[in-house]
Amino acid sequence: MQYTEIMVRYGELSTKGKNIKDFINQLGGNTTKALHDFPDVRVHPKRDRMHITLNGTEPKPVLERLKLVFGIQSFSPVVQLPKDIEAVYAAAVEMMQEIYQAGMTFKVQTKRADKEFPMDTNAINREVGGAVITALPDIKVDVKNPDIELLVDVRNNGIFLSSLTIKGAGGFPVGTAGKGIMMLSGGIDSPVAAYLGMKRGVDMEMIHFFSPPYTTQQALAKAKQLTAVLAQSVGAIKFIQIPFTEIQETIKEKVPEGYLMTIQRRMMLRLSVLMAQKRNGLAIFNGEALGQVASQTMESMMAINDVTTMPIIRPVVSMDKTEIIKVAEEIGTFDLSIMPFEDCCTIFAPPSPKTRPNLEKTRQFEKLIDVDGLIERALAAVEISTIRPGEDYMNPEEAVFAELL
Ligand code: ATP
Ligand code: MG
Repeated sequence: MQYTEIMVRYGELSTKGKNIKDFINQLGGNTTKALHDFPDVRVHPKRDRMHITLNGTEPKPVLERLKLVFGIQSFSPVVQLPKDIEAVYAAAVEMMQEIYQAGMTFKVQTKRADKEFPMDTNAINREVGGAVITALPDIKVDVKNPDIELLVDVRNNGIFLSSLTIKGAGGFPVGTAGKGIMMLSGGIDSPVAAYLGMKRGVDMEMIHFFSPPYTTQQALAKAKQLTAVLAQSVGAIKFIQIPFTEIQETIKEKVPEGYLMTIQRRMMLRLSVLMAQKRNGLAIFNGEALGQVASQTMESMMAINDVTTMPIIRPVVSMDKTEIIKVAEEIGTFDLSIMPFEDCCTIFAPPSPKTRPNLEKTRQFEKLIDVDGLIERALAAVEISTIRPGEDYMNPEEAVFAELL
């Protein structure tokens, strides 16, 4: 079937009243970015639907890409036909022959915006249905709950035929909620939290703390690779890497063991907030889930949160580990997350961190280190890069090799 365009239905955003125009423009821009490597594809965002014209491009990879774009409820590949009912019969039969499997039921559903067209909706339903049954004598009609709904849309500029509705990613277009700063480790939880935040329209930038030589190049590469997976939804994500070695060594030397974790986290949070302020971020996101580990009790969150008034959003806070893993598998981050390159927290984790750190003691112990000096030196060594989907950070040699071929 030679599909000519893809019709995109908006989701929740159609309920957004006066902001609707911004949402549609943002979604149009994001979709254009997500499809930038298909040069002939054109995106036309309209008030009720978005139309993506294929201009000869193979639809399958375009459909795959669209599944990842937030703000899309569902979409259908469509074929545009001349206003000639014979052409509709032929295309309907071809389309049904491609998707029909034994035992499936169908119905034809016609919409007619062009009132000049000589046949009315009932006649079109009946005649197109008849053509399909003639070609596929075993197929049954089911008007209540059909397996295939063949949509015929008679518009002024042609007749549009579609039969497949593909579920989109839902949520809001990225960028409509403002910028967020994600604290991204190499673990399972923070990539899922990032995904969920982006799904609510947050334009996310990643911060990753690394501690060479205690952590390897591979651990840093893994965080970048996770970012490349998440970038599939948006086209590109900024990755901010902050060296954390001096801070961790100093804390380990100066601070009682039970408070190592809490004070490390306070330093991470301070640095994240400073970066957010520099880069117009409105909130910090992390992958904490209540009760999951020592640093994720409410007492611990209070002791860590103490360093800032900037909102900290924890998208996975109430999810079970099994639920988080399920999402990680769906979004394609799980296999990477479980690769065994330890990040800076695992390596400096004390054998028995305090699960209920005392806020006053935390503040006192922190006075044993030079907070401002440490922060200043870490910020001076920040590196920021742009990460795009499809980039390979885990196997750089192989990527270079592939390019040479
Ligand atoms: P995750 O699976 O996201 O690593 P976790 O259950 O292992 O989470 P912790 O290691 O305690 O929990 O980390 C809690 C949160 O702190 C992480 O979800 C992440 O947001 C942040 N974080 C931890 N380590 C780093 C790091 N190296 N760089 C940036 N953020 C980090
Ligand atoms: Mg972790």
